[in-house]
Amino acid sequence: METKIERAAPPREDRLQAGTAFCGTCAQLRERLGRGDGGCFNIANRSFGQSFGCQFTLSLAMLNTLRNTVVVVHGPIGCGFWSIGGYGTTRTMKRQRDPAQNSTPWISTNLDEGDVISGGEKKLREAVLYADREWRPEAIVVAGSCVPALIGDDVDTILRDMQKDVSADLVAVNCEGFKTKLMATAYDAVYNGILKNLTKKRIARENYVVPDKLDDLVWEYNKAHTVNVFNVGSMGRPDELELQRLLNALELKVNFLPCFSQPQDFRRVLDAALNVSICGTHDDYYVKHIHEEYGIPYLIDTMPIGRKGTSRWLMNIAKHFNLEEKARLLIEKEEAALDSALEPYRAVLKGKGAYISGGEMRIFVTAELIKDLGMEITGLKSHHVDGFIKPVMEDLEVSGGTSINIASQHPFEQANLIRKLKPDVILMHTGSGNITSKHGLPVLPLFNPGNNYMGYSGAFEIAYRLKRLLSNSQFNKNMQTYRPLPYRKEWYTKEVWSYIKEQ
Ligand code: SF4
Repeated sequence: METKIERAAPPREDRLQAGTAFCGTCAQLRERLGRGDGGCFNIANRSFGQSFGCQFTLSLAMLNTLRNTVVVVHGPIGCGFWSIGGYGTTRTMKRQRDPAQNSTPWISTNLDEGDVISGGEKKLREAVLYADREWRPEAIVVAGSCVPALIGDDVDTILRDMQKDVSADLVAVNCEGFKTKLMATAYDAVYNGILKNLTKKRIARENYVVPDKLDDLVWEYNKAHTVNVFNVGSMGRPDELELQRLLNALELKVNFLPCFSQPQDFRRVLDAALNVSICGTHDDYYVKHIHEEYGIPYLIDTMPIGRKGTSRWLMNIAKHFNLEEKARLLIEKEEAALDSALEPYRAVLKGKGAYISGGEMRIFVTAELIKDLGMEITGLKSHHVDGFIKPVMEDLEVSGGTSINIASQHPFEQANLIRKLKPDVILMHTGSGNITSKHGLPVLPLFNPGNNYMGYSGAFEIAYRLKRLLSNSQFNKNMQTYRPLPYRKEWYTKEVWSYIKEQ
């Protein structure tokens, strides 16, 4: 592919002025986002931080969903820890799509002190040849961690040189952790590799010896009625089936990318009329490049979560295909069915306070769903903040005085805030549940691969699970009693933002 793609994706602090440190109210955040300078969130920092994620691990989380692929971790052995931690979940989620699938094989170049002096090229070449010989995969992805970036290993050039020696497509993903505090830069790093090496124009059609007019017409028709929906690694198959059901009802065909795809699927990305992002945080780097290079339009707006979010997402897609009337009838029918199904749950959940923590887009659309259930939003916590949240925030019926904390992890701030806000239930990003469970409050995972979260059926499932959870929170009370949070009482007397600088 002739491309203008850079060697590596820039950090999101530079590309989007995104930030990870803020504590205030929704009104203050909205005011900052509305400023001409975009809010300058990227200059804020902490004088003390407890923990935050590295973009390399999130890159692995995304890469490990790919099928017929081997991942080579180019770095010290410890950088691959996520591939062990996420092994079972990823395999389960892959098998939801294809029962024959296993977890993605991965190997490490295991760089050590000697390699820091002499370079990691030899080990990398050996690892790639081994992966090709052992698994014969469709693609080998080399994820470069901090060490090769620091010692100057040029992974792109090495792979380009090796391509003639292997049958797999070689993909370089430059995702060293030290480059950014914004984990979400990982999505850009992975898409950067996919753009450089896997997104290719299909050449088979152009090579036909005898052109087939009927075949061309069928292909054109299908392309004009196909939507690429950009899924996220946290989506279980039930979510995809619900979105597919709704889009099929509008007589549109759906491809789900990039998670759980095979490398060859990225060739088909160009055979669609519209690229639809489920979450702007995830996909803007890729869909904007595809638009610039190939002219395929894209849609980045809200997430299809809850009644309002799903209807808005669906209607936006319908508008692109001039299907508004059809979509309006579908939305009316779906909303009426959901409303009557939610009635008994609203009666129980009414007035309960929820604290929601996770990715920026997901927490705000989930807040809309929580409001729709008659509950109150007592506080929000987002991994980071950038301009993508602006349209959703403008539309949100959350009070301006609602607390919002921008922090990738840093659970000490969360503990302080929850002590002050006193919610009835916490909706928490999966992975932060262990420390959160010690607050003594029931915790609903913000997503769970086996459950349905998106679309109208997802809204019902969340209501059902919330009702069940609130009826008995003894487990979390026991956790609070026998495994209390580790912070001193003095910390709870301080302001939550005590360690945030340049706010
Ligand atoms: S910060 Fe660097 S060294 Fe640490 S896990 Fe991430 S990539 Fe590896």
